[in-house]
Amino acid sequence: MLLRSRRAVLPDGERPADVLVRDGRIERVAPHGTLDAPAGPVVDLGATALLPGLVDTHVHVNEPGRTEWEGFDSATRAAAAGGVTTLVDMPLNSVPPTTTPAGLAAKRRAAEGRVRVDTGFWGGAVPGNTAELEPLHRAGVFGFKGFLSPSGVEEFPHLEPADLEEALAELARLGALALVHAEDPAVLDAAPQRPGRRYRDFLASRPDGAETAAVARLLDAARRTGARVHVLHVSSAAVLPLLAAARADGVRVTAETCPHYLCLAAEEVPDGDTAFKCCPPIRDEANRDRLWAALAAGEFAAVVSDHSPCTADLKQRGSGDFAAAWGGVASLQLGLPAVWTEARRRGHTLADVVRWMSAGPAALAGLDAKGAIAPGRDADLVAFDPDAALRVDPAALHHRNPVTPYAGRTLTGAVRATWLRGRPVEPDGEPLGRLLDRPGTPGTPRAAGPDPEGRAR
Ligand SMILES: [Zn+2]
Repeated sequence: MLLRSRRAVLPDGERPADVLVRDGRIERVAPHGTLDAPAGPVVDLGATALLPGLVDTHVHVNEPGRTEWEGFDSATRAAAAGGVTTLVDMPLNSVPPTTTPAGLAAKRRAAEGRVRVDTGFWGGAVPGNTAELEPLHRAGVFGFKGFLSPSGVEEFPHLEPADLEEALAELARLGALALVHAEDPAVLDAAPQRPGRRYRDFLASRPDGAETAAVARLLDAARRTGARVHVLHVSSAAVLPLLAAARADGVRVTAETCPHYLCLAAEEVPDGDTAFKCCPPIRDEANRDRLWAALAAGEFAAVVSDHSPCTADLKQRGSGDFAAAWGGVASLQLGLPAVWTEARRRGHTLADVVRWMSAGPAALAGLDAKGAIAPGRDADLVAFDPDAALRVDPAALHHRNPVTPYAGRTLTGAVRATWLRGRPVEPDGEPLGRLLDRPGTPGTPRAAGPDPEGRAR
């Protein structure tokens, strides 16, 4: 296949290009109009942009166990429609959680043959599972997520300081990445708790200080153990100086933020609209500007969705009580147009968005075949019309539950087509996604390793 676009986003920037794809990989990238048509199809995108597929390393699929919240079929349909060609699934909200090799096997069984984009798995670090970390690591998880405050589900308890220290020491020994939800439980407990429909009350219940206290504690533990740590979903810009100082001091720390922190602000959240509830929360406009400045300065390794849906019921769509509602924003299908809308308004380019949402998260997860339009990489590609107006109709999304804070908004940019390893992802076509092991997993490719489950891998 030959793809031709006047706006191809390549590692060194945006320019007109021809992209030759063979056997699922990018074979050549050449100036626009210079490659001869191969035996296969030629797709001329004109002025529609050609991007590397997005890599979303923060997705809660919730299957098995809470498939009514989101499942592999619905999540990966939404991903493909939103230009995401690789996702890495979070270890909690499914039952069982991915905190043991059996939990990982259950995930793989649920996902096998049903994913429309390539899918990998994070493991989980919880109190008492330190002995499971090495077998999970050897089984191919990309790294391990832990919480410093209650996660919201009882089967995934948070790490007390001693648990964190123990987990990080083991992950440092394994050379595995630690992902951390950083809010401090003592600060949360001390904050005013006023349930109800007022967003301002919810915001006051999760102050900036909860993030800074937790990040400070995490950085101390990372410094002592030598573990490589990644701060998930940074909402408060107050943590940025802590991260910069630790980095300057040699601590191996990266951080991500999410489309909702970049595109939405507390001032515009309607009281009772629990679609906006997430933890940590969407903060004020001034904070949002500081997140953008940090993003522009290269302080974030990735912008990823933290797609964490639930049923409309648990989202308290009836009562609008922020305290009672499940915390999580559903945006897997909308991350690209949401971020592009705001990025463009602020003078950023498509190449910036690709760095934040494709190359960055691919590097974070060690996915060296993803994240760029370059020879040898997987031909995971997206045709994106950067000028289209996209009115968000929740009912038209592939998310299992049609609840999103972007409902009714008009975003800029629309995904026109998605290719996975050179093949178009069709909504009703056969699922083409593969289950990914962390590159470098002992025994990969999978066929070479013994399968404890006795099933074809
Ligand atoms: Zn999450």
